Amino acid sequence: MSTLVFGHKNPDTDSVCAAIALADLKKKLGEDIAPAIQGELNPESTFVLNKFGVAAPAVVTSYAGKDVYLVDHSDLAQSPDDLKEANILGIVDHHKLGDVTTGQPLECWIWPVGCTCTVIASMYDYFNIDIPKEIAGIMLCAILSDTVIFKSATCTDKDKEVCDKLKEICGENDLESLGIEMFKVKSAVEGTPVRELVLRDYKDFDMSGNGIGCGQLELVDLSIVDGIKADLEKDIQDLKAEKGHHTVLLMLTDIMKEGTELLIASDDESVIEKTFNATPVDSKVWLPGIMSRKKQIIPDLEKTFG
Ligand code: MG
Ligand code: MG
Ligand code: MG
Repeated sequence: MSTLVFGHKNPDTDSVCAAIALADLKKKLGEDIAPAIQGELNPESTFVLNKFGVAAPAVVTSYAGKDVYLVDHSDLAQSPDDLKEANILGIVDHHKLGDVTTGQPLECWIWPVGCTCTVIASMYDYFNIDIPKEIAGIMLCAILSDTVIFKSATCTDKDKEVCDKLKEICGENDLESLGIEMFKVKSAVEGTPVRELVLRDYKDFDMSGNGIGCGQLELVDLSIVDGIKADLEKDIQDLKAEKGHHTVLLMLTDIMKEGTELLIASDDESVIEKTFNATPVDSKVWLPGIMSRKKQIIPDLEKTFG
């Protein structure tokens, strides 16, 4: 039975590409291992895999009794429900350390960089294994996606340095246009059910016993969602009720203007006002310069709930 490597629920491009890349590297290091995803590919990930001719990982939702590596997360809320019955061999991630624990020592690569694929590209170097052209291409796209083409507060010099190397290997010279091509795919909302948009890049958190949900749509222009904004607002209210959460947020991030309109469904909106020092009007607030859920939303909210 082979080991499986997978990223978080509602897989994003990093979760998908990091699983594929780590499986490739580990295979070359002699392990019997395959990549997996916890849910269907989103349009951006589909575009990236097609562009470089890489097969999609199998969708696997149950991991009991399996040896596993986690990529791009270490939070139980973002892991499979039966993770406790799996044997975690290692974690490769770039988020704050979550609440996953293990029964034995593990291989752990958690770096404060913009993308899991930045860590994995560095692991290829560490183990002296050549990165295949198509794997370089998908890792490059994952880094451009997670760092919002190097504009996100999460982007580090290490991410840029790794991208310089990856672009040589895969022959992509214009990273800005590759990034925008990708974000245009990501921005497409037409014909997509509202709930699917809310959940497309959505994560649940536990903050001192309060359930908090936060989704994000990264858009090349906010006007793309003008026609459906009211539906999005209604849907996060519904989702909050269904989950019994304290708060559900949806970040509408304008990657060109570099800011986020935050849609709020909350038992107590003053939490948002206190956290971001901005007053919501009609349960919405524009937060200039805010593009990263991980770095600019979640830690500050956690402090408020402290
Ligand atoms: Mg991710
Ligand atoms: Mg990531
Ligand atoms: Mg992201």
